[in-house]
Amino acid sequence: MDKSDSMSSLDKSTITNLLMCSIKAKEHSHSPYSKFRVGAALLTETGKIIDGCNVENASYGLSICAERTALVKAVSMGFKKFPAIAVTTDLNQFVSPCGACRQFIAEFGLDCDVYLVKSDLSYKKIGISELLPLPFTSSKLESNLQALNSI
Ligand SMILES: [Zn+2]
Repeated sequence: MDKSDSMSSLDKSTITNLLMCSIKAKEHSHSPYSKFRVGAALLTETGKIIDGCNVENASYGLSICAERTALVKAVSMGFKKFPAIAVTTDLNQFVSPCGACRQFIAEFGLDCDVYLVKSDLSYKKIGISELLPLPFTSSKLESNLQALNSI
């Protein structure tokens, strides 16, 4: 089992719980402008689930996605390792995280599984390293800075 598979061993009830939490989180969405409700649920390595919703702003650019809301909440609570995150919308299709959220998830490790969830609890699981190939991570930043310093 390689490292990317090691996080795939979540039991069915944990997965179901995570999916349901993402759907419930959508209820708190503040999306008066787009009407596009998004819910996310983030699993910590301790098994705690931290939810998040999108929070829009009249100054559109200040809006924050559900995934980043959950991550910011979790980090501020002291968590930094996340085996999985679930994300859901009101659409009857799998919606994947935006580029900013992919980068934000990757900041905390490339072995996080992303569950794209529909309201009927069907889901599609995809690793963050698949969603964000050639990621820009802290180790990449370091090697870039070293390369810059050697010029
Ligand atoms: Zn996003």
